[in-house]
Parts: sequence; C-alpha cells; structure tokens
Amino acid sequence: MQCLARCAARSGTSTFVDTLSALRTRQNCRERNCSLSWRAGRYRSGPIRKHNWSMSTTSVKAYEYIVLGGGNAAGYAARQLVEKHAIAAHKLAVISAESVAPYERPALSKGYLTANPPARLPGFHTCVAAGGAPQTPDWYAKHGVDLLLSTEIVKADLASKRLTAKDGSQYAYGKLLLATGADALHLNELGMAGAELDGIYYLREIAEAEKLYEAMKANVNKHAVVVGGGYIGLECTAALVANGVRVTMVFPEPHVMARLFTPQIAAHYERIYAEKGVSFIKGTVVDSFADEHGSGRVRFIRLKSGAVLEADMVVVGIGAKPRTALFDKALAMEARGIKVDEHLRTSNPDVFGAGDVITFPLKMYGNRMTRVEHVGHARQSAMHAVDVMVGASTEPYDYLPFFYSKVFNLSWKFWGDTPPNAKTIVAGEMNPKLVAVWIDDSGHIVGTFIESGTEQEEAKLKELARTRPPADMERLEQAAAAKDPDGFLKAL
Ligand SMILES: Cc1cc2nc3c(=O)[nH]c(=O)nc-3n(C[C@H](O)[C@H](O)[C@H](O)COP(=O)(O)OP(=O)(O)OC[C@H]3O[C@@H](n4cnc5c(N)ncnc54)[C@H](O)[C@@H]3O)c2cc1C
Repeated sequence: MQCLARCAARSGTSTFVDTLSALRTRQNCRERNCSLSWRAGRYRSGPIRKHNWSMSTTSVKAYEYIVLGGGNAAGYAARQLVEKHAIAAHKLAVISAESVAPYERPALSKGYLTANPPARLPGFHTCVAAGGAPQTPDWYAKHGVDLLLSTEIVKADLASKRLTAKDGSQYAYGKLLLATGADALHLNELGMAGAELDGIYYLREIAEAEKLYEAMKANVNKHAVVVGGGYIGLECTAALVANGVRVTMVFPEPHVMARLFTPQIAAHYERIYAEKGVSFIKGTVVDSFADEHGSGRVRFIRLKSGAVLEADMVVVGIGAKPRTALFDKALAMEARGIKVDEHLRTSNPDVFGAGDVITFPLKMYGNRMTRVEHVGHARQSAMHAVDVMVGASTEPYDYLPFFYSKVFNLSWKFWGDTPPNAKTIVAGEMNPKLVAVWIDDSGHIVGTFIESGTEQEEAKLKELARTRPPADMERLEQAAAAKDPDGFLKAL
C-alpha cells in the first residue's frame, strides 16, 4: 500500500496507462511487488484488493483452477469458465506477469500504432474481437475471478501443485491451464554486437508498443530500418510509413512473408510498399549495430553482405520463442513447445495448455504435431482446454489453421495448409482483390487466401479449406488467366 502511494505520488497522476511516465511508474511498482487496480473505468494506484495482495510469503492461496498467463488465451479461458461454466467466485485465478488485464495482442501492431486516434486500453481488452464487451478488470472483479497482475511465476512444482511468484507468494491449484505464450526473439540473446543500444525496438507487450509509438512520433521524416520480413516486420513498416517515417526492410528471404506467400503474392504486396517509399534489402541479415560518437543510441547497421545502413531507429521482428522455461524438465516438450494431446492435456494429467506455447496434434492433417503463433488458435484452444478441464468435453481439438494481417487499407486472410509440394493458383491484380488456392499432390484444395474479400467470399474460402474438395485444375487455370478474381471465386 505504502509503496503504491509513493509510486502514485511520484507519477503525479492517478491514471497509470495514459502516459509513458506512468508506464515507467508501473514498472517501478512491479519491481517493488506492488500493483495496479481498476476503478471507475481506469487503472488507478490503489487500494489493493486484500484477498489478492496482502499475502505473506508463507501463505498459500488455493484455487480450483489457475490460468497461468495474461494474454489472448488467458482472457478467453477466463470468459469460457465464467460465461459457459458459471465458475463460482474466487475459484479461478488468472496470474499474469503483465500489469494490465489480458488484451487483444494483434492490436499492438495495428490500431495501437496507426489508428487516428490510436487504440488504447480499455478499448481492446480481450473478447472485443469475438464481439463481446472488453474484459476490463471490472469484468474480472464482477465475476469473482482473481486477476493477479504484475505477478511473475518463477517456480512451478507440479508434484505438490504449487506455483511460486517472484515475491515468494504461493498459489495452489486443482487444475492448471498454461497460457504463457511466447516472447519476441531478441538479437542480444543471439550475442549480436551493439544489440543492446538504445533505439532498437521489439514488439510483444503493450509497454513496448508505447515505446515504439513514441519513437515513431519522434522520428517523423527520419529513417528506420526494420529487421525481418514477416508479419511483424510488415505491420510495423506500415505503421512507420503511416506515421511519416521512411523505412528500409532487411531480411534474408527472397521476398516478404516467405513462410506463407508465394513469390507471385509477395510481389503484389512489395509493389504497394515500394509505392509508399519502402526499400527492400533481401537475402542478407544484420551483422552488428553501432552508435555514433559513443552516444549509446543506434546509428549504423552493418549487414552480413558488408553494406552499412544509417538509421534513426530500428525495429526488430525476427520471430518468437515460446515461454516454456518453467516446465522444460517437468513436462514433455516437442518442437520448442509444451507437448499436449488432442484434448490439450500435457504429460501431467492436471495440467493443460493453450495458445502459442503448445505443440498440439492437428486433427485435420492426420494429427501432425504443430505449434501455431496465431490469435485464432489462442482463443479456440483456450476455450477448448477449459471445456475439457471442467469435464464438459471429450471431443478432440479440431483446428483449421487461420492467419490474417492488416496493413494500410489492405486486409488478407488465409485458411488451411501449404504443403511444400503444393501447386498454387493466384487470380487477380490486387486492385484491391486477390484470391489464391493451394492444391496438394492428390489434387485437392488444401489452402485458400483472399485479399480484400467480402464476408461471403471469406466464408466460402474457409469452407473450401475445411472440406478440401478436388480441384478442377483446367477450369481454375482458365479462370485465373482471365485475371478476374470474382470469376475465379465462382469457378471454385
Ligand atoms: C504485435 C503482434 C501482432 C500480432 N498480430 C497478429 C495477427 O494479425 N494475426 C494473428 O493471428 N496473430 C497475431 N499475433 C499473434 C497473437 O497475438 C498470438 O498468437 C497470441 O497473442 C498468443 O496468445 P497467448 O495467450 O498464447 O500468448 P500471449 O498473448 O503471448 O500471452 C502470454 C502471457 O503469459 C504471461 N506469462 C508468461 N510467462 C509468465 C509467468 N512465468 N508468470 C506470469 N505470467 C506469465 C505473459 O506476460 C503474457 O501475458 C500478433 C502478435 C504480436 C506480438
């Protein structure tokens, strides 16, 4: 309490998320093991709810269910337990290292950076994307869910079913849902020279989005280098451009979104980025960073190709690493993730998993084990794991892979699979529509893609990816040759 009062007094504000200085104050609070609360629609500095926070280091608070994590999966798991399974008050705790309630993470590289006015909490707490009311801290309080924020779990003893937080507080569970997600891969973890300099930004959590937003505003008409050509790189580049920053993108692949796009699809997006002034340096990676005159701030980016770029800021989007460290020895792992079965149960019968952190069997594709870093999976797997956890479902998790992105005034969606030997047929010139299908070597449509589609068109393509009908190649190739995406859609 005293610590909160001191922190609030130092910040000079009673609202913690409005300003960057408040964010720093919140970090101070976090380091001192104190917290934020939510009153009258805003984050405020106190008072602390006793049942959450006045725990001595030796007491153990027991819950029937604990959701470990405070991201997309955690938010949707809590909603499922409350709305579908009417969980009794204080039987459920959501424990998160973050200092704000679970939010829709994809908004960080979209509305948070580009909208006018930019999206800010509480507008994008979880469940808005599913058409529900945002799950603000008020929502958790109203439903008797103990939302333990700024609470990093540092030890998990699965034999005694106890979790220990950084401040020593302990939590016992009946059943545990792991939703610890992933963190951005940082270049200094790879030992890159200069990677610790100021002016190098990553994007995973809201505090990082705030720093990136401030940096963009401070670098209007200046130059940024974006490292990485995946969807974080592309979305951050679009945000930088929208905010008046010139961008050079650097990535090792031959084109953007190499894990999903074909060269033909990528060329359309690269053309649009180039029209907006973006330059591409492909086929090389960053070797090191350096400052100027010992400023401590990044100024030069040396590439493996030998070229040296100058920049006022750098944004890195080179992938994510699942947060499994607490469980590496206690649970079975596969493909860098926590291994779960078709019911999303880990190798421990009372521990389940959801979202980015799990490697699970894809029922649609012969139970191929996979890890998916996408929000649709985070939401669906969380709700499914909850149903199994409470004994309401014995169905296997059946997920149709779905990816999407939004940049500038464009929006693409993809459903299904892209086997390595698949044939892709692309229709349209992206003005603005583009449609594509992936056909596997047995002649079935297995993946579908659309840019700027209508709801009905998207529903049709999703259904095709789910049902995988045989493709009439001749008819589809003829329709694609006419460069008319609407005609192609009719031919499907
Ligand atoms: C900028 C950005 C844009 C994105 N855009 C898209 C998009 O357009 N489309 C799409 O499909 N996907 C997108 N994604 C991916 C999507 O957001 C993730 O797949 C999704 O958030 C995963 O949810 P999750 O709950 O599994 O993990 P996360 O959302 O990462 O949440 C994990 C949570 O666990 C907490 N945690 C971890 N360890 C501990 C611990 N020991 N103690 C306490 N708490 C802990 C973390 O603090 C965090 O709150 C985007 C991701 C980012 C970062």
